[in-house]
Amino acid sequence: MSFVTHLEAAIDGTILPHEALQSVHAGRPLWVRYDLDAVGAALNKQELAGREPTMWRYRELLPVSDETKIASLGEGMSPLLRCARLGSALGLSDLWVKDESQLPTGSFKSRGLSVAISRANELGVQRVAIPTAGNAGGAMAAYAARVGMEAFVFMPADTPIVNQYEAAYYGAHAFLVDGLITDCGAIVREGTPHMDWFDLSTLKEPYRIEGKKTMGLELAEQFSWSLPDVITYPTGGGTGLIGMWKAFAELAALGWLIDDRRPRMVSCQAAGCAPISTAWQKGERFADPFPAPATSASGLRVPAAVGDFMIIDAINESGGQARACPEDSLLYWARRGSELEGIAFAPEAGACLGVLEMLVSEKVVDPEERVVVFNTGAAQKYIEVIGGSALPRLSPPVDWTALST
Ligand SMILES: *Cc1c(COP(=O)(O)O)cnc(C)c1O
Repeated sequence: MSFVTHLEAAIDGTILPHEALQSVHAGRPLWVRYDLDAVGAALNKQELAGREPTMWRYRELLPVSDETKIASLGEGMSPLLRCARLGSALGLSDLWVKDESQLPTGSFKSRGLSVAISRANELGVQRVAIPTAGNAGGAMAAYAARVGMEAFVFMPADTPIVNQYEAAYYGAHAFLVDGLITDCGAIVREGTPHMDWFDLSTLKEPYRIEGKKTMGLELAEQFSWSLPDVITYPTGGGTGLIGMWKAFAELAALGWLIDDRRPRMVSCQAAGCAPISTAWQKGERFADPFPAPATSASGLRVPAAVGDFMIIDAINESGGQARACPEDSLLYWARRGSELEGIAFAPEAGACLGVLEMLVSEKVVDPEERVVVFNTGAAQKYIEVIGGSALPRLSPPVDWTALST
């Protein structure tokens, strides 16, 4: 059984039933609402300790009723790693990385798509489609495969090669589109009456937020129900930032947090595609489409986000910021972080590290504050970025004198 009571349009509060398939209202996303009193009566936070180490440990705060419909690959409970060496390079004494690179399909997209596919499966969907900047397509293909759904993936022709291959490898019908992710989105919309597929675009259905929300639930549980001072989150469509902010509100309503402190949410983008930070800096709630978006942090190459106002509201309510990181800085920090900690930092997370460097130097973040960086994907998926020059060759026998100097 689920504790969902209804869906609520984020733009105007219109209430919609959750028993039917829903997409958007007035072109804008929907919130999933729960009977939190009933959740609190059914579950106390101590019971969580004995549960499976996946995000489905929070099933009372997730929207699936029939557990046999769940599409899971063991996602969630990713490590929360203290990073003293990287922290000292950034001038921070209490830096942590939530390492989502270790999730199924190598990115945190598995959280949102596990829940979205599960709920679609429960509602009888047999065919799904998605526009993707890269990782969402691979994740959707994997979870669709897991429950025997047919999957269609549309990605820009210059999407990282591993993302192209993985979608096809998991059996999806995968296509390269001459255009941007917004063009891929238009194809999915136009195709709906012809193909009768369900559109799993970011925030075009209500349940991906719920999956990404579990990052916030895990952070709270892993920090013993006391939240950090600052969260830096690499923002494309913004699902994770919106989802975590929702998670903190639900945890507060449940009375599970030991104090009232909520983190300042810092939305980090790449300078080559920074619609949210541009709008936030101008004091606006809605973002203009970003012209000619270009960055190797492909997950951030989202020129227009339907949840722009939800991202900006969360940032402002939290006292946070939205900032853009120059391309050379995000590439530098992704590699530097990987060298210093052995964590496979994706370029998107490099943007968080580059923004943190700025915020520390501007004294917006204090050196002793507890800061969490989300490493949302695995560096291994970005062959084009991590592959530099060829390695030096050795032909045995080794000349040890040359090697040791
Ligand atoms: C999709 C993606 C992002 C952006 O996530 P949103 O929640 O849509 O803002 C960041 N990093 C990586 C690696 C991604 O794949």
